[in-house]
Amino acid sequence: MRRLRLAPLVPFLWLAACAAPPPEPTPYVGPPGDCMARLATYDIEFEPVPDGGSSSCPIRGAVKVSRVGQAKLSTPAVMTCALAEQLSAFEGIFVQPAAERTLHSPVVILHHYGTYACRRATGKRSRMSEHARANAIDIGVFETASGERVSVTRNWNGHDAEAEFLKQVGQGACTLFAGVLGPDSDAAHRDHFHFDLGPYGFCQLDPIDPRSVRK
Ligand SMILES: [Zn+2]
Repeated sequence: MRRLRLAPLVPFLWLAACAAPPPEPTPYVGPPGDCMARLATYDIEFEPVPDGGSSSCPIRGAVKVSRVGQAKLSTPAVMTCALAEQLSAFEGIFVQPAAERTLHSPVVILHHYGTYACRRATGKRSRMSEHARANAIDIGVFETASGERVSVTRNWNGHDAEAEFLKQVGQGACTLFAGVLGPDSDAAHRDHFHFDLGPYGFCQLDPIDPRSVRK
């Protein structure tokens, strides 16, 4: 009797054993060539970091960055070389030109909330965050030479020069980073931009219309 009751399960178990999880998409690693050698030619203050981290969240080929162009990081941050390269481009191509247009003073400090954290992606328990491999940065405040602090929390929803600055750098970021989130993405990002170089491309700066979500 017991064998008869188990029999219908056999095809299911066979399928389950064969259904291997899909392979993890490959993260963006930057253009071909030696990333470290390229960084050495940029206006960026950095030092290479020995491979480390933990077994579930390894850090490979990373650098500790303390300044990109005219902007210091509020605290030096460990990140993948590819992320450092894109952050440098972001500062030069978008942050300073937008600051000149809207704030009339260069940004001198990027206040960030960290790059490396061994944890799962917000709201997606099935996969690790790009922060788990130091491949993401959260930026909350852009401080100018004149002492103004443009804050994602306070200024994102305004209708002034500061809000315009944040919109411009956010849209610019979407052309340089693979993943961009902001205050309108979800509650977890109400006080910062999230930029990453993961394999899951998204630029989510506008509120998600619940009607567009497939049930
Ligand atoms: Zn983040």
